[in-house]
Amino acid sequence: MRLILLGPPNAGKGTQAQSLINKYHIPQISTGDIFRANIKQETPLGKEAKSYLDQGLLVPDELVVAIVQDRLKQEDCQKGFLLDGFPRTVVQAEALERFLKEDGSALNRVINIHVARETLIERAIGRRVCQRCGATYHVAFKPTAAEGICDSCGGEVIQRKDDQRETAEKRIQVYENETAPLIEFYQSQNLLVTIDGEQSIEAVTTAIYEALKDA
Ligand code: ADP
Ligand code: ADP
Ligand code: ZN
Repeated sequence: MRLILLGPPNAGKGTQAQSLINKYHIPQISTGDIFRANIKQETPLGKEAKSYLDQGLLVPDELVVAIVQDRLKQEDCQKGFLLDGFPRTVVQAEALERFLKEDGSALNRVINIHVARETLIERAIGRRVCQRCGATYHVAFKPTAAEGICDSCGGEVIQRKDDQRETAEKRIQVYENETAPLIEFYQSQNLLVTIDGEQSIEAVTTAIYEALKDA
């Protein structure tokens, strides 16, 4: 299964990715996670990406495309993958199309999670992530059992710098300008299914499974 999770920041892509990778036994490729890991380890890539993430801007296409292309060549992606947060521009989508073609493979579905702007801000402000394992929580909608401590690994749970209101709003604007055109791009290829992301986490998961039944 070759899937893309499309949707604005804080729509619930990472949350849903967790269920999907367990069900389909495919790796999750989250470009945001890759950048954050590199920033934490202060690698050259991390140093280059940091100011973009801090400002809520997109990392340049060439950089992102090279990383994803490399990742997709790895053995564990041969039977499928779940892209979370990539592609985010038409240029990235076209690059992906090219290298899948070279590989003789193609996408099965693009799942577009739709959530209204006000909800996205509410989710951003309340989102907390584990610094150690990356697990995602929400202060109201998916709280940790013990405050500030990750349920799955015991790591420290913090707020992402780019989830503060101003940057969260900026990222939605960037999404609308740069990423939303991908909805039409994939619709015209008959790959898109749009899911109502305002439902509970479990209801969204069920809707996605339903949409993938014949994929
Ligand atoms: P994305 O990967 O699209 O940026 P996340 O999966 O990190 O989004 O979710 C953003 C925030 O919203 C997190 O705090 C998460 O716990 C919460 N969340 C995700 N899906 C739902 C949902 N269906 N209802 C309520 N809160 C949700
Ligand atoms: P969210 O789903 O909440 O928007 P991500 O973790 O996917 O957050 O992305 C965080 C940041 O990482 C983005 O604001 C951007 O700076 C960078 N980033 C992630 N994926 C891409 C991409 N495909 N192209 C450009 N920048 C990206
Ligand atoms: Zn953890």
